[in-house]
Parts: sequence; structure tokens; C-alpha cells
Amino acid sequence: MSALLEVSGVSVSFDGFKALNNLSFSIGKSELRAVIGPNGAGKTTFMDVVTGKTRPDEGRILWGEPPVSLLGKSESAIAVAGVGRKFQRPTVFEDQSVQDNLMMALSKPRTPFSVLTFKPASVDYARIKELAEVIGLSAELGRKSGELSHGQKQWLEIGMLLAQEPKLLLVDEPAAGMTTAEREKTTRILRDAARDRAVVVVEHDMDFVRKLDCKVTVLHEGSVLAEGSLDHVTGNKDVIEVYLGR
Ligand code: ADP
Repeated sequence: MSALLEVSGVSVSFDGFKALNNLSFSIGKSELRAVIGPNGAGKTTFMDVVTGKTRPDEGRILWGEPPVSLLGKSESAIAVAGVGRKFQRPTVFEDQSVQDNLMMALSKPRTPFSVLTFKPASVDYARIKELAEVIGLSAELGRKSGELSHGQKQWLEIGMLLAQEPKLLLVDEPAAGMTTAEREKTTRILRDAARDRAVVVVEHDMDFVRKLDCKVTVLHEGSVLAEGSLDHVTGNKDVIEVYLGR
């Protein structure tokens, strides 16, 4: 399978400190991947580099088929190319209904939410319904987003990102602050999302990662320490030492 994203030999230094050190990572077109690692391992910097927020000092980032380099491209150009990113905190338009949030996200593909219009020329209600179903919020379409639970807001934002049709979705710690039932549902939503696109989940919660049931990449000191199934990486003695602290 050819890679959708291929990062090779990427290094990033901040004042001489290597946040990423010769990092290589690749993901296929419809693959779900968990990226784990202790604090300071480079997970955020990795997402920053892929989304164009931070420029690497060296290395290659290739995207799509035929592969093109993402190096030097702006954050918005990378978003338009199909890389979506969900930050840890939910960001939805709290004063607007769930339906209107989805409507806005649908109105213009791959556009930062901050510049979307509240009154798009046409509204695809069928697609809004479909998305609401995917994120489990069909019964909440008329509700103000600000009234949703933390978990529901996270799902709504995931739905808004899906509306923007990314080819790769980067999701930062989606399970943080969720109840057990919300986590279960989030697992399902992310697994479903990865049927038609690549999804990278950066996560601390091992139980959640286990439920994702996908290949895991362990970062440590800006490099890949181990990669494989969760059982494989958690059985690796280097991972046990640096990540699990045993
Ligand atoms: P993680 O997300 O895995 O916790 P980060 O990517 O945030 O790790 O950070 C990796 C390392 O790089 C950390 O030691 C962090 O302090 C450092 N770092 C990240 N961003 C900056 C920055 N803008 N300036 C200086 N150091 C940074």
C-alpha cells in the first residue's frame, strides 16, 4: 500500500534542543494510528510539522499520490491539500445549534472555522443528517452547542472536521476529560472515520488506545522508539523503561 503521508528524517530544534530527531513516520490512505509517548516526546511538534505550523530543519514530508512535498507550504495550503487537525479542547460555535455548526463546516471544504459564513448559499441537509448520525448527535441537531456535554462537543467538532473532507485527520487526546461511555463512543467514531481516510490519534490513555485496536507508534525524545500492535510495543523493553517507567 502506498503511503498517504511519508515523513522521513525530520528534525526540529528549539534553541539547540532537538524536539524531533530524525523522525520517520508513514501512514496509508485509510489507516487508524495511535501515537503515544511521554510528555516532551515530540507528539505536538510532530503534528505542528505535518500541519505546517513548524518548519523542520531537515528531512522530507511527502503527501499524496503522486507524492508532493509539504515542506515550505503554508498551514492553509496544507489544510486545503487535505490535512485536518483537531486540537485537544473542543472548539465549536457555542451560540449556534449543532445543525448550524455542521452547516457552516460543510459550506466550504478545508477552511478554518473562524472564517466560515453563518449563512451559506445552499444547505445540504441530507449530509448534515448523515454527519449527525456518524457522530451520534442526531437527536441534538436543534440544540445549542454550548449546552452539549464535553464529549458531545468533541464529537461535534470531529463531525465538523469530517464535513471538511480531510484525507488525513490528526486528533489530539480526544478522550481527555471524557466519561467511560463517552470514550467508548469516541473509539467507534474514530474507527468509523478511518474507513475512508487516515486518522492519527495522539493519546495518553492506554485503555483508550487499546480500544482503538490499531497500529501504535511510540515516540521518545523526538524519534520513533517502537511501532506495531499495542501488545508488541508495550512488550518492548525500551518502551517499558521510558514510557511505562517500570
Ligand atoms: P509532547 O507533545 O510529546 O509532550 P512536544 O512536541 O510538545 O512534546 O515537545 C517536545 C520537546 O520540545 C519538549 O521538550 C518541549 O519542551 C520542546 N518544545 C516544544 N515546542 C517548543 C518551543 N516552541 N520552544 C522551545 N521548546 C519547545
